Amino acid sequence: MPKQALLIRGAQAIVTCDEQDTVHCDADVLVVGAEIQAIGKNLPSDGAQIIDAAGKVVYPGLINTHHHFFQSFVRNLVAIDYPSMHVLDWVESIYQIFRFLTSDAIYYASYVAMTDLLKHGCTCAFDHQYCFPRAAGGQIVDRQMDAAKSLGIRFHAGRGANTLPRTEGSSIPDEMLESTEEFLRDCERLVAAYHQTQKFGMQRVVIAPCQPINCYRETFAETVSLARSLGVSMHTHLGEGENEGMLARWGMRTLDWCEELGFAGSDVWYAHGWELDSGEYQRMGRDGTGLSHCPAPAVLGGFDIIDVQELDKHKVNISLGCDGSATNDSSNLLDSLRLAYLMQAQSAKRRGSYPTPYRMLKMATAGGAAVLGREDLGILTPGRAADLFMIDATKLELVGAMHDPKSVLAKTGLTETVWLTMVNGRVVFHKGELTGVDEEAVRARALEVFEKDVVSRHDVFNRS
Ligand SMILES: [Zn+2]
Repeated sequence: MPKQALLIRGAQAIVTCDEQDTVHCDADVLVVGAEIQAIGKNLPSDGAQIIDAAGKVVYPGLINTHHHFFQSFVRNLVAIDYPSMHVLDWVESIYQIFRFLTSDAIYYASYVAMTDLLKHGCTCAFDHQYCFPRAAGGQIVDRQMDAAKSLGIRFHAGRGANTLPRTEGSSIPDEMLESTEEFLRDCERLVAAYHQTQKFGMQRVVIAPCQPINCYRETFAETVSLARSLGVSMHTHLGEGENEGMLARWGMRTLDWCEELGFAGSDVWYAHGWELDSGEYQRMGRDGTGLSHCPAPAVLGGFDIIDVQELDKHKVNISLGCDGSATNDSSNLLDSLRLAYLMQAQSAKRRGSYPTPYRMLKMATAGGAAVLGREDLGILTPGRAADLFMIDATKLELVGAMHDPKSVLAKTGLTETVWLTMVNGRVVFHKGELTGVDEEAVRARALEVFEKDVVSRHDVFNRS
């Protein structure tokens, strides 16, 4: 059967995010199957389905490199408010909800997060799933895979775990503890069932113990040998305020601890990293270890603002992440993109300079692809996947801003959903509608699960 062809015709601009920072004006994109075949002016349609792109701007799909989808059902909680609490008190309170989450609650929370991501231009998302309450069963990641497939989003599933009990100094409720053995056997199972190594693979698995402070040393050491034997990537939280605790427990900063175990290199990326110093950035750049910058929790937690220019100086691969909805309250990566830019701009007076808004867009596109090890994503050029989104530049509210399409998303921001999102050559969201999804039916079921499995069990959901 011949591959389906789509021609995006006459786009006002195509921002490629390639190394030359090419922007095509009044140009077309020809998509054949999953792949971009050509970009240029007046491309022949040859029977392709036409998408009239007059007045639209095309961007590479955003890539989200750190999230906790399950937290979508603990958003907007004023009673457990991250900015106003000490982080340990916040963890103690929020885990009282996490420990009782059901499989259905995690499934629909994940579905909600992925929907928000797609509607705001994200085409590839990594989720760091570390909430495995025993009563929820062993199919949580499998169900997330199903949700991703039904929505059409490219999905990298991080199989997380916490192995250190509270009696030995962690903050993890007993219901969520797993042994290293249980964790790694499930990782093996998931890799065998879902990990697609081929070009344009839609689903991959990442081995992602939650964080060094809440795990045994052996959990990380054995993760390294399993992941390298299977050829999959690794991920964890690092440099988000835990160094003091790591020094007290191990006499080492977290990066030293990870490096000693081999949990560093081009197949590893960390979330946060605002607590790292310049020498540590240099080592990450040397080893090829990537970073997911998550602006929302950093600003809400009052933490140091990461120095993107310093990271660039050391050639660290930096990407962008929403982080979990409990410390962001949103899965809108466009929103995180603008926030990241504003935070960098805020530090300009102190640092003397700051990255451009376009630099921040590249972090969320090409940067994300590099961090996830995806040479087939992140840039709009022939041979790469047709993962892209389009905005309607003819909206009244954008008059006066569209003269520089490279910068507008981070500097001005978009106040609505995107016009179209395409993943792997398939339109998955267009003019406000998710393709092939009965959104009202899913919403009704998700709301039912949220009320029954979450709200009715916890009095912090005060709806007065
Ligand atoms: Zn996180």
